[in-house]
Amino acid sequence: MSDARTYPPSEAMVKGAHVNAEQYAQMYEASIGDPEAFWAEQGKRVDWIKPFTQVKDVDFTLGKVKINWYADGQLNVSANCIDRHLDTRGEQTAIIWEPDNPEEDAQHVTYRELHAQTCKMANVLRDQGVGKGDRVIIYMPMIPEAAYAMLACARIGAIHSIVFAGFSPDALAARIKGSEAKVVITADEAPRGGRNTPLKTNADKALASCDAAVKCLVVRRTGADVPWDEARDVDYTALAKTTPDTCEPEVMGAEDPLFILYTSGSTGQPKGVVHTTGGYLVYAAMTHEITFDYHDGDIYWCTADVGWVTGHSYIVYGPLANGATTLMFEGVPTYPDASRFWQVCEKHKVNQFYTAPTAIRALMGQGNEFVTRCDLSSLKLLGTVGEPINPEAWTWYHEVVGQGRCPIVDTWWQTETGGHLMTPLPGAHDMKPGAAMKPFFGIRPVVLEPTSAEIIEDNPAEGVLCIADSWPGQMRTVWGDHERFEKTYFSDYPGYYFTGDGCKRDADGDYWITGRVDDVINVSGHRMGTAEVESALVAHKKVAEAAVVGYPHKVKGQGIYCYVTLMGGEEPSEDLRKELEAWVRNEIGPIAKPDLIQWAPGLPKTRSGKIMRRILRKIAENDYGALGDTSTLADPSVVDDLIENRMNR
Ligand code: ATP
Ligand code: MG
Repeated sequence: MSDARTYPPSEAMVKGAHVNAEQYAQMYEASIGDPEAFWAEQGKRVDWIKPFTQVKDVDFTLGKVKINWYADGQLNVSANCIDRHLDTRGEQTAIIWEPDNPEEDAQHVTYRELHAQTCKMANVLRDQGVGKGDRVIIYMPMIPEAAYAMLACARIGAIHSIVFAGFSPDALAARIKGSEAKVVITADEAPRGGRNTPLKTNADKALASCDAAVKCLVVRRTGADVPWDEARDVDYTALAKTTPDTCEPEVMGAEDPLFILYTSGSTGQPKGVVHTTGGYLVYAAMTHEITFDYHDGDIYWCTADVGWVTGHSYIVYGPLANGATTLMFEGVPTYPDASRFWQVCEKHKVNQFYTAPTAIRALMGQGNEFVTRCDLSSLKLLGTVGEPINPEAWTWYHEVVGQGRCPIVDTWWQTETGGHLMTPLPGAHDMKPGAAMKPFFGIRPVVLEPTSAEIIEDNPAEGVLCIADSWPGQMRTVWGDHERFEKTYFSDYPGYYFTGDGCKRDADGDYWITGRVDDVINVSGHRMGTAEVESALVAHKKVAEAAVVGYPHKVKGQGIYCYVTLMGGEEPSEDLRKELEAWVRNEIGPIAKPDLIQWAPGLPKTRSGKIMRRILRKIAENDYGALGDTSTLADPSVVDDLIENRMNR
């Protein structure tokens, strides 16, 4: 990995960027040397109703973990994302909305309209009896009303919890009950990829098993006829017409909860992550501006769904706190065809584009013509998040989408972290395909030896990734279960925040995320990240995607089990199997030679597109009876095929 090709930042980037290499070094030093002073200064990014006098109050000690930032300050997040921009940019577009169907008109919502719409929604919620500290579930398509709903909750001090619109009624019901929500905000239907999901009907099914007092607010998206319960359902679209469009924002303490959001469920039962008001907003705003090098007037697009933390921090809160123009896309990358992302970039002249490796891999497999037929000259920067990106996919993204011109920010972070913890900064750092490179300001990564928990100081290093000190965007607790919070993140490596991820620091001191700690395999005494083997497989021209797990092996301790999805048009064969074995052996070394290769028409993924290796591990171990929580799985049917054709019996 240390001999990977390095891409230095372009001269233009270095010149124009918010942060260049010298500034990074200086600011990073300051952020670590005197965090109180550094974060007191950064706290000025937001407007406070009552300024804070305390900055940081943190304890990572098991049994008394507490995380407080700006604790005595008071502010309102929606006022920061909307009201404070009205004088200077009331007529500027806040949200560009691009619908699922390209024939339908896009919408441009100005900051002034955003204010009016958010206030209407806030007033309707208040009329339904929702107040400070109450929970509201948002189960919505990617339409501007989803952002209004988030900001409306923030305005009146209610805590939102967004449930991705693709989730089942059961998953929705569990989250309504888990948060004891007063209201569910949904829409009649959710158009996606040319099909309409019956959202309201799904919500009805979920609500049937919930407290009868829970109200259901329905936004009209398609106008479809939907079942109606007069006692429970409220027609938001009809009501909004006559609801006042101003609403006083609630005064919130910096440590009042802003939202609850469940993790993706890649490694087990999803955790209800709680983020609070002041520190979260400061961190989301700062990372959005600096990582993406956002400048006034830029058009910024993050393709995530608001159901994930990426949508919270980098579609809504970060960009709007910065007065940016943020694009919200209702559809999918492959509808009507694999050119859609690039058409949207061309149509709206997108400057910063942020997506996930799963989308990049899928689109790469469709061929370059879908990209090259579009005018992508507006693009200045590309970003990725969610999983390690294979160098092969990185290079395609850089060369074909970015035309070799755009830096790629490979942002490593988690639902728990609120914002980016590691990423190259476009005007400051070299990029290496697949590396998260450098810590963000205030972040102190440490690499620990997994069993002794000792810090590895020298480079290169490989081990467990922990963070030695807090940052303002850090989660505060697991909703309703502070003990699980402490146990999950602070018990295995005392005194540190344990990320659950493994990493390498190369000879240059740059960081590479190697995947989940659980995914590290030990072959004949050699520890190996499965991501490395996966990247080698994906680098073969006939392979579209690969997932690698360990399984018990009599001789080696653990064997290497590979699930391989071939490029469209390629046929599995014994010859190809041998070819791939030899290929990996060649790319990495004899130790990494696959023991078993299973042809996988599809891989089990979370709804956010992450490969669920824990399920693949079970199948590889021939122990597929108890697969654990599968409620966040995108397509359960792929699992049946994998079980049926398993290689280790
Ligand atoms: P759960 O915690 O429920 O198992 P999850 O960890 O997939 O689910 P998220 O918070 O959505 O839930 O994802 C965070 C994880 O995603 C990180 O811990 C890391 O493993 C992976 N990840 C995110 N971004 C990157 C990146 N740029 N490079 C490598 N890995 C990444
Ligand atoms: Mg996680």
